[in-house]
Amino acid sequence: MKRKCIICREDKDRFTDEHVIPDSLGGYYHIYTVCGVCNSNLGDKVDSPLVNHKLSELYRFAQSIAGKTGKIPNPFSGTFTQDDDPNKKGRLDLQSDGNLKLYFPPEVRILEKDGQITAIQIAVDEKDLKNLDNIADKILARNDIPRESVVRGERTVEIDTSRYSMSWPVDVNRFKIGLLKIAYEFAVDTIPSYFEDPGAVEISKILKGAKYDEVEKYVNIGNGLQDEVMLPYKAFLDFSSKSHYLALSDGGDLGLVGVVKLHDLFAVGVTLSKNKHLGQGLFHIGVNSLENRTFKKFTSFELMAQCIGPLECQFLFALHDELGRSGPIEDTRSPDFSYEGKSNQHTPIYNASGIHVCYLKDLVVSSACDVVQTDSGFFQKSIFNPLQYYYIKAISTGKMYRVVGHEVVTRIIKKL
Ligand SMILES: [Zn+2]
Repeated sequence: MKRKCIICREDKDRFTDEHVIPDSLGGYYHIYTVCGVCNSNLGDKVDSPLVNHKLSELYRFAQSIAGKTGKIPNPFSGTFTQDDDPNKKGRLDLQSDGNLKLYFPPEVRILEKDGQITAIQIAVDEKDLKNLDNIADKILARNDIPRESVVRGERTVEIDTSRYSMSWPVDVNRFKIGLLKIAYEFAVDTIPSYFEDPGAVEISKILKGAKYDEVEKYVNIGNGLQDEVMLPYKAFLDFSSKSHYLALSDGGDLGLVGVVKLHDLFAVGVTLSKNKHLGQGLFHIGVNSLENRTFKKFTSFELMAQCIGPLECQFLFALHDELGRSGPIEDTRSPDFSYEGKSNQHTPIYNASGIHVCYLKDLVVSSACDVVQTDSGFFQKSIFNPLQYYYIKAISTGKMYRVVGHEVVTRIIKKL
């Protein structure tokens, strides 16, 4: 059956395995809604500026992530030049054990006096010591010097402690198209209504044509390296783990916003659409774990269910009651203290005359509320109107206790 490719939007009947996060960055999120032509175009023009960015190479090197060829990239490849002597070159070779080793290519200095060669100095790396004779023979041959006429000189070992440096050109823009692709594919794959959105149509054109100049119209929150874009989800996500995170939410006036945070590498926010698609407070999270080699999606509800412990609620009691109805605070601290509606959160509230006036939830809605978010959870404190007297009723004694506020503690018990 023909389906639309999410990039070219043409009807196709064959689809390929598309890695939303490139596999060379440790991505485990696969979708099967991109046609073969688009898949290979994306690889060449959209993924490659991201994967071959110097920061990605450094990351793949540090995390030992091999590419398609099975090789870990060497971000230090190329020639280093000695700071004091630009003619002296060095190179950092990546060894099979993953360590880097400094290597100096052979360096030959021919000393002449009155047009006559008086000495040949050959400096080689320790690795090339066994080839020293071969190298010398080649130089002699090149200069037409018979071997017999050479008096062998001394060998010295020198430890080179000079500074070598090299410069890396770093692309500051083209890599963003790779992040745009990740956010777009996550949105299309997660929110069914998004595919026909005008923003989605526009982004698929940018990706199809690899229009680098138009990327920043959408990839416009943060400079690409700012972790802060993930802050709204910080309470639930473990940024110290080796994971890539994706998020989708309605960002106020911005419309639908996608956030991509590739471990310690890139972080960016994408305005995917001017329209809202999810509803207030709702979001989707994608967690790509490098350690577990998995990708998992969570809705806001699933995330809360996994990360949040049972609610801890308590009333704030008045210290004294002019009408003499409030018992000592000590009563309420007893483990036996129980009041109506404690077990089902449907607590009736009474006035000073003992008349039932409303329920706790109505009181909380009409009260001044303060929410504090810390690393361990959310603390929500409601202070009731101080001009009104509100009471709850103890179950065993029927005694009334005056309450002035209510606290709800939501603890984060797990981060993803
Ligand atoms: Zn296509």
